[in-house]
Amino acid sequence: MRRAVRYLRQKSEAYHTTIHILLGIICAYFTTSFFPDAPLGWLIFYGILGSLLPDLDHALFIFFYGRKSEYSQIVKYFLKNKKIRFMISFMKKNHKHNTGLYSHNILSVFMAAAAFWYFEVVRDRPSLTVFFLAWTFHYLFDLAEDLLFFKRVNPNWYFKFSKTPKRPLSVAPPDVPSKTRSTPE
Ligand SMILES: [Zn+2]
Repeated sequence: MRRAVRYLRQKSEAYHTTIHILLGIICAYFTTSFFPDAPLGWLIFYGILGSLLPDLDHALFIFFYGRKSEYSQIVKYFLKNKKIRFMISFMKKNHKHNTGLYSHNILSVFMAAAAFWYFEVVRDRPSLTVFFLAWTFHYLFDLAEDLLFFKRVNPNWYFKFSKTPKRPLSVAPPDVPSKTRSTPE
C-alpha cells in the first residue's frame, strides 16, 4: 500500500499538468453523451482550456499578490537567470506547498460545478459545458492530490491562505542566493 502511494505521488508530481490535460480530454468525451452532435475537436479544445486556465492563478500569485513570498522570489530568480528547467522542477516539487492561491477554494469548486450545470441543463451550450466541467475537474484533481500527498486538503480550500510555505521549500541546484530565500511576508 505504502509503495503504491509512493508510486502515485511520484507520477502525480512528474505529470501534474499532463494529467490536467488528459482530464480535459476525458471531459470532452463525457460531454458528447449530452451533446452527440457537437464537434469533438472543439469539445477537446474547450476541455483542455478549462483544465488549464485555473492555474493561471499561479502566475497572478507569482507576479502580483504573492510576489514577495519566498516561493515567488525563487521562481522569479530562476526565470531571470534563464534557468527554466530548474524553475519547472522547482515548481513541480513545491507548488502544492503553496497555500496562497486565492482561486483554489471550496466556493470556486461549487461555482464551477454550478456553471457546468447551468450551461448543460439551462443553456444547452456544449462548449461552455465542457469548459466548466473541465474547470471543476481541475479543482477535484488538485484536491485529490492534496489527499494523496498530505492525507488532508490544504488550508486554502477552506479560505486559509498563507504566503509562507507549509514546509521548507526544496530548491534544485544551482541554489538561489540566501538574500532571495529570506523574504517571508
Ligand atoms: Zn490548480
